[in-house]
This record gives sequence, structure tokens and C-alpha cells, in this order.
Amino acid sequence: MTELTPACPEFELIFLGCGTSTGVPMIGCDCVVCQSEDPRNQRTRPSVLLRTPRGNILIDTSPEMRLQLLREKAGPVHAILYTHGHADHLFGLDDSRLFARALGGKPVPVYCETEVETLIRTVFSYAFVEETKRFPSGGVPRLTLTNIEPFKPFDVIGYEVIPMRLDHGKFKVLGFRFGDLAYCTDVSRIPDESFALLQGLEVLVIDALRFEKHPTHFSLAEALAVIEKLQPRQAFLTHMSHSFDYHAVSANLPPNVQMAYDGLRVGWSGIQPNLIVSLDNPVSDVVNL
Ligand SMILES: [Zn+2]
Ligand SMILES: [Zn+2]
Ligand SMILES: [Zn+2]
Repeated sequence: MTELTPACPEFELIFLGCGTSTGVPMIGCDCVVCQSEDPRNQRTRPSVLLRTPRGNILIDTSPEMRLQLLREKAGPVHAILYTHGHADHLFGLDDSRLFARALGGKPVPVYCETEVETLIRTVFSYAFVEETKRFPSGGVPRLTLTNIEPFKPFDVIGYEVIPMRLDHGKFKVLGFRFGDLAYCTDVSRIPDESFALLQGLEVLVIDALRFEKHPTHFSLAEALAVIEKLQPRQAFLTHMSHSFDYHAVSANLPPNVQMAYDGLRVGWSGIQPNLIVSLDNPVSDVVNL
């Protein structure tokens, strides 16, 4: 249990999933971790939910999104942000069909890079054809897609979010900073410009796939080296494979580093509302949680 978790924090980070793209256990694997009955060794695909007084912000829609949100009894989702469009981060999007209902029938705001929008419009093409617009609410996802770019802050339900470029092998993905919390999954290199934006963090969530080096993800040693340089108050490892037994690896981590596990909740001090946006364009759609 982290000391950052007060009883009922106003701002909460919930790890919906902290596993790599295969999930843990892996189908067909009989290793000790995959056979473990410890829930901290059972990792669904990677996604987090940020609970705020203004609503719930979902980062990525993993293939287990529906089960993850039900498990956490998280209530409605008010906005979706995408780090990138790989299947383990995207393919649960169909289950967002019911999100619009919770928003009074309004489309769900989705923030992603143009490349991810193209993927969404391809994979979920049925959600964008004229015919399905006549379907009753809940038939297909109803989404408003807004393109974002690295290093250009944008507004999500009245909060400023800073997107930054991360290298994921040859792929380009986004990390996000919300006040003093940053989420950096699927990363094998942090460009200098992004490194500068990760200073002074209270909470850093960072990719750590396995012990050995990997072309598209940080290894444990690489993630720890980044944490050592950035010195966040607390760091959490995510996108983890079956290489890591929760207790064995946790026992050897520095005091400010923890392995995430599905369902872990971390309170943090939150982010100030984006006052410029609030004054010009009051957030009228805030839905009580
Ligand atoms: Zn991934
Ligand atoms: Zn295994
Ligand atoms: Zn990926």
C-alpha cells in the first residue's frame, strides 16, 4: 500500500490493467508466474483510469476494458485518451457504446494522434457509417475524435494535459502529464524534450516489460535508470510480462518504486482546473461520479 493513497482522494489513478500485450497468464504457458494464483501476478492489458472531481478520464481501451471498468465499479467514462493504436491499447473500444448513454446521448470525446484516428476509423468503421447513426444509443460507439500533437497541451473535461513524444522501438507514441502525474507506457526511449517535461513528478508510471532488453519496451534495469534520473516521489511499473513475480521483484526495488497490479489505486494531489478554458467555455457537461 502506497503512502500516497489517502482514504478518499479527490484525484485517483486506478490501474485497470498493467500487463503486456499478451496479458498474464499467457495462453499455453505453464511458468510459475502464469500458474500463480496471486492476483498480483494476473495482469490484464494496459490501461489506467484517472478519477477526478470533474469526471473519469480513460487512457487507452484495452481488450479487457469492459471487465476492467466493471471490476473497479468506476462509473461512467467522460473522455478517452490514446497513447497509440496497438491492439492491446485499442481493441476494447467497441464496449464504449454505453459511455454516450451516461453522457446524456452525447458522443464521447476521444483525443488521439491522426494516425490513431485513421486506425479507429478503419477497425471500427461501422461506427462511422450513416446507417448506424440511426441506431439507438448503445448500438455502436459514438465518438468525437480530436487530434492531438506531442508538446501541445490540450484540455480534457476542464483540465490541462501535456502530451509528450515517446519512442516505442520504431513506433512513435504519446506519454501524458496531468499536473504532477505522468503516464509513460510502451516506451523504449524518452527523447530529451520529453525528459524535460517529466521533472518534479509526484507519480510516474513507466513501462518495464522484463529483465532482458527488448526492442520496443524498457527492461526493468532501463526503467529503474530513468526513475533514478527523474526522481519522482513514487514510480509504478507497468506493461509487465510473465517474467516478473510480484513478490520476488518487489522485494528488490528501491523504496520509491513499486510494481503496479490490476486494481491498484493511487491518490495524488491532482491538477488545477484549466482556468482559461473554464472562463471562456465553462464545462457544463460535468457529470457527477
Ligand atoms: Zn502495449
Ligand atoms: Zn508464463
Ligand atoms: Zn505498443
